[in-house]
Amino acid sequence: MLKNTLINRLTKDNPAISIRGDERFYWQPETLTVHYDLSETEHFNEYILHEMSHAQLSHQNSYSDIGLLRMEVDAWENAKVLALRYSIEISDEIVQNSLNTYRSWLYKRSLCPKCKSNGIQIHADIYCCTDCYSEWQVGNNVFSRCYRKNIDKN
Ligand SMILES: [Zn+2]
Ligand SMILES: [Zn+2]
Repeated sequence: MLKNTLINRLTKDNPAISIRGDERFYWQPETLTVHYDLSETEHFNEYILHEMSHAQLSHQNSYSDIGLLRMEVDAWENAKVLALRYSIEISDEIVQNSLNTYRSWLYKRSLCPKCKSNGIQIHADIYCCTDCYSEWQVGNNVFSRCYRKNIDKN
């Protein structure tokens, strides 16, 4: 299905959700907006269905990292159901790649900036090192980090 056709159908089928072109894919719960990467061509359909799934499942920003991974898995499961409706194919490979990227992003942000030990999450956006007891803040705009090109930004 063509990009614009899919965007039009998603807009019609999800009247409460705004869909906007942007620099990357992410779901913004505060404004009920799905943002899509204007430059994506190869996996546009799969990624926009994934973001729309976060929207349909009413995913919020304020979860623990374990909760975040759970939401990622749930969003892909929902995206597969949507894919059937719009005759789009979502390969297991793209799901696994996206989840692996997300896992390594979660892992990286749990590493202490001072001593590189593994920290524990003590708040939605704060980690504490179990070795040197440093605390550090992590971004809480978690939905903008699902894809590979965003991974080095944290
Ligand atoms: Zn996601
Ligand atoms: Zn440390």
